[in-house]
Amino acid sequence: MVVVGGGVGGAAAVGELRRAGFDGGITLICAENAVPYQRPPLSKDFLLNGAAATNCDVQPPDWYSQQEIELLLGVRAAQLDLAAKTVTLSDGGTISYDSLLLATGVRPRTLPGIDGEGVCYLRTMGDAAELLDRIHAAEHVAVLGGGFIGCEVAAAAVRLGKRVTILEALPTLLQRALGTTMGELIAGIHRGEGADVRTGQFVSGIRRRGRGLSVITGDGTVDCDVLVVGVGTLPNQELADRAGLPVGNGIDVDEYCATQAPGVYAIGDVAAQHLPSYGRLVRVEHYDTAIRQGRTAARNMLGAREAFTDIHWFWSDQYEHSIQSAGITDNPDDVVMRGSAEQRSLSAFQLNGDRIRSVISLNRPKDVLDVRRLLAREHSVTAAQLRDESAPLKRLAPPPQRAATAN
Ligand SMILES: Cc1cc2nc3c(=O)[nH]c(=O)nc-3n(C[C@H](O)[C@H](O)[C@H](O)COP(=O)(O)OP(=O)(O)OC[C@H]3O[C@@H](n4cnc5c(N)ncnc54)[C@H](O)[C@@H]3O)c2cc1C
Repeated sequence: MVVVGGGVGGAAAVGELRRAGFDGGITLICAENAVPYQRPPLSKDFLLNGAAATNCDVQPPDWYSQQEIELLLGVRAAQLDLAAKTVTLSDGGTISYDSLLLATGVRPRTLPGIDGEGVCYLRTMGDAAELLDRIHAAEHVAVLGGGFIGCEVAAAAVRLGKRVTILEALPTLLQRALGTTMGELIAGIHRGEGADVRTGQFVSGIRRRGRGLSVITGDGTVDCDVLVVGVGTLPNQELADRAGLPVGNGIDVDEYCATQAPGVYAIGDVAAQHLPSYGRLVRVEHYDTAIRQGRTAARNMLGAREAFTDIHWFWSDQYEHSIQSAGITDNPDDVVMRGSAEQRSLSAFQLNGDRIRSVISLNRPKDVLDVRRLLAREHSVTAAQLRDESAPLKRLAPPPQRAATAN
């Protein structure tokens, strides 16, 4: 079994292969020169508390040898031959496989001309270490892009006592991910914490200014010591593409996490999965999904035929606030609010007919947990029930049917 990509998805897959009883050879090919680690802390605890206080390892470093998993660090899978069932490595070696998992993740989308000294993108532990040093040395941190990475870094920089400016092209923060109402709430939180949130800003370039930078926007310039760019990602799909596998926005896989090539699977941030209930490919960049898909794919690599049906779920922490979401909605017929925007305790439920399709919540993790359970079952809700705080969400679904027992 060969797994390409040592993120949380790849690491979960190799663990599941052993847990499921596979006792043959497993190789995990990691382009980064680090044992698999978790990325979510990199924009949160790692910046706030430093590297020494933040353990991001998925497993202790010696776990891989204990599990007899061959861990190749600092080596890329350079070429894939589907007919010969081999992977050629960047160090010239070749590995053959019976079954292969592609878990190559994504990389930050970069903007032409916005790079060099003082410009930071954030994906890897190395990026985070550099960003941490630069934030500590800075007085003014500018953030280009008001998505999750930008907002989390901005929150950390504010907490570290820095002056922070967020530059976002859309009318509010996190608009694509959370919609206008929630986005405005988050923008209000950042403003309340002292960040200078500027929306509708088109950044056209940067100019060097002594040891700092001037960021050029449609409205003038913003002088800063460090510029953090978080403007989305690109899937690392070239290996699959060159091998002839179907790719578009990610590597196309079916509900079993399988590509079109027999024995070849893809999961996590790089995978665009066909979801029958949505009738389309869905690619998400969620920590939890990468792990769960990794486990499902591992079982399928061993011969199971298990569809990935888990509910998509993610979280983001900014200041003391917790944002969470579960489910996916294309075109909701209705969006119903529960809670209070003033108290910053609010859930937005997206409905198609009488079914909840997704929820986005601010500081209401219990609502998200309840919706995750509802989404997994048949349910029928009304807007009035959802608005009524005295009605527990978990009561909105019929109790699970008990298996009939013979007397
Ligand atoms: C700063 C940050 C904060 C985040 N916070 C959250 C959060 O709060 N909540 C949440 O739900 N999600 C969060 N995420 C997203 C989450 O981390 C990802 O969804 C998750 O890491 C996806 O795991 P993965 O295994 O699919 O890919 P990745 O973690 O990207 O790992 C892929 C690995 O494959 C390697 N690779 C690529 N090509 C090759 C090759 N040819 N050969 C060998 N190796 C290769 C890459 O170098 C990389 O190490 C965050 C992400 C970042 C960057």
